[in-house]
Amino acid sequence: MQEQINELPQKASEKLQENKKFFTRLKRKAPKNLDYIMQELHEQEFNQTDCLECANCCKTTGPLFTNADIERISKHFRMKPQKFIESFLKVDEDNDYVLQQVPCSFLGSDNYCSIYDVRPKACREFPHTDRKKFQQISQLTLKNIAICPAAYNIVEAMKKRIPLR
Ligand code: SF4
Ligand code: SF4
Repeated sequence: MQEQINELPQKASEKLQENKKFFTRLKRKAPKNLDYIMQELHEQEFNQTDCLECANCCKTTGPLFTNADIERISKHFRMKPQKFIESFLKVDEDNDYVLQQVPCSFLGSDNYCSIYDVRPKACREFPHTDRKKFQQISQLTLKNIAICPAAYNIVEAMKKRIPLR
């Protein structure tokens, strides 16, 4: 898996133009059953990809934390939200709360998340490949392909499944 992860930025960069064209066409004529197709491709991929062998998202990017995430996680630690923010978070250029450092402080050496049950919404949803109206997050997906081997494979499978000209 590590070799696959190391090669991903280069592979994503080689596919960038092709993927941009595909997503431009997808926005123009998304199939009516796109949500269904994405559910299927997402499930197929995650049946064969074990995130515990990867954790590249937790190691290299980290999520943004909503106010609800901060409330829930600080409660879990029995900390005041402000103390949690000071200990683990910073504000980024988009004014969002993000991790002070990556790899994420909550990631164990065994790739388990120590706050799994209360983890941020963005962690639960990453890489967003099963979300509705997937064509609306093409810019984000183009970035995620370079980080997440599952997202890369899902987009490759999409291009085969949905031939667009
Ligand atoms: S979501 Fe993607 S990047 Fe994150 S652990 Fe799973 S396969 Fe790896
Ligand atoms: S909170 Fe958990 S799932 Fe989210 S980035 Fe950190 S270790 Fe990964």
